[in-house]
Amino acid sequence: MVDSLLIADVRPWGGPPVDLLLENETVAAVSVATGSPTGPGERVDGAGRLILPALSDVHLHLDSTRLGLPFRAQTGLPGRWGRIMNDREHWRSAERSVTERAAFTLAVAVANGATRIRSHAQVDADSGLAKLEAELAARERYDDVCDVEIVAFPQVGLLLEPGVVDLMDAALSAGADLVGGMDPCELDRDPVRHLDAVFGLAEKHRVGVDIHLHEAGELGLFTLSLIIERVRALGMAGLATISHARCLTSGLSGVPAAIEQLAELDIALTHAAGAQGWALPLLDLAAAGVRVGVGMDGQRDYWSPYGNGDMLDRAWQLAFVNGFGSDEHVEHALAVATWGGASVIDRGLRPLDRSEPHPGFAVGDPAEFFLVDADSPTSAVMDRPADRTVIHRGRVVSVDTALDGFEIPGRWGRGRS
Ligand SMILES: [Zn+2]
Repeated sequence: MVDSLLIADVRPWGGPPVDLLLENETVAAVSVATGSPTGPGERVDGAGRLILPALSDVHLHLDSTRLGLPFRAQTGLPGRWGRIMNDREHWRSAERSVTERAAFTLAVAVANGATRIRSHAQVDADSGLAKLEAELAARERYDDVCDVEIVAFPQVGLLLEPGVVDLMDAALSAGADLVGGMDPCELDRDPVRHLDAVFGLAEKHRVGVDIHLHEAGELGLFTLSLIIERVRALGMAGLATISHARCLTSGLSGVPAAIEQLAELDIALTHAAGAQGWALPLLDLAAAGVRVGVGMDGQRDYWSPYGNGDMLDRAWQLAFVNGFGSDEHVEHALAVATWGGASVIDRGLRPLDRSEPHPGFAVGDPAEFFLVDADSPTSAVMDRPADRTVIHRGRVVSVDTALDGFEIPGRWGRGRS
């Protein structure tokens, strides 16, 4: 592994050309491009391309993805339970194993510029720890090109089927990084027992939590208040994430106070850039200092036909569903998909701040970037150019959607055919 990498002639967030020196996995110096920079280590010629903080996919399900497999018609009944059962009925008979599917999807994500990933691994009475083990194996395979956190995720609830809490306990012992939860009122219909189990496991294993909360309106705000109560009581500020947090889109009078408490306890949010009542109030959240990241969620799986492994596409979707049209706002969507997600995973990073719209290039910032041939950040989001150079921990890990030892086949590589 190189200790030093000089990236010459690149434009951070579309600004003036600079030479960027990376050392020991962080930014060591940013200087006006000279045309002939010298440095002690390896060198990349940026050729005037745009450089941005690496993309971060902080909410996906590597165990259900069908990226790269033949497109499959949706056979699930509408609604959450219909989709859960559709997955349960079919996941074992997919054309490739969970490990192979998870690994392929990771490779596509990295080749497209995402180097930080948080994935949920379903733990339930049907699959036991099989899906977690598959995700652990996929993470191991691509350990040198991306950082992956895995959440033990009780997709079917904790209380409806026997033994799930014990399985979650075993998942955390087996290598899961965080404890998940899932709609404690709507699914288990017992939010106190559900959340006490989640936070009990978090305490026992000294890990953070990342709870799926689709519950809308007052019900969702009620569940949110129970989560906030536990984070506060257990001294878990900075260790909790809520995924989707649909209740914050409700426009109810309790929303601003809830946002204030999220900021106070450094509770992060992740979501999938959904439309129709799922779009989070991004600008309000940034103004309050709440960490927000975005992810692919399920991709072409037994739940959803959407997703293609390209987080720049998801940045476009995020801007689109929020109705963003100005450069300032599109760049904010891009900042959420890059630095915002990174700050959800690494609480040592500063949260997105509207007064610093172009983060990632201060001395000491992580050496996680991607280069792309685009006029501006907004045009990068609109065009999603294929030629990307991806840098992880200060070294180049992918050029033009070809990871070392893993060429992304066909249309998944965008730049290749
Ligand atoms: Zn999810």
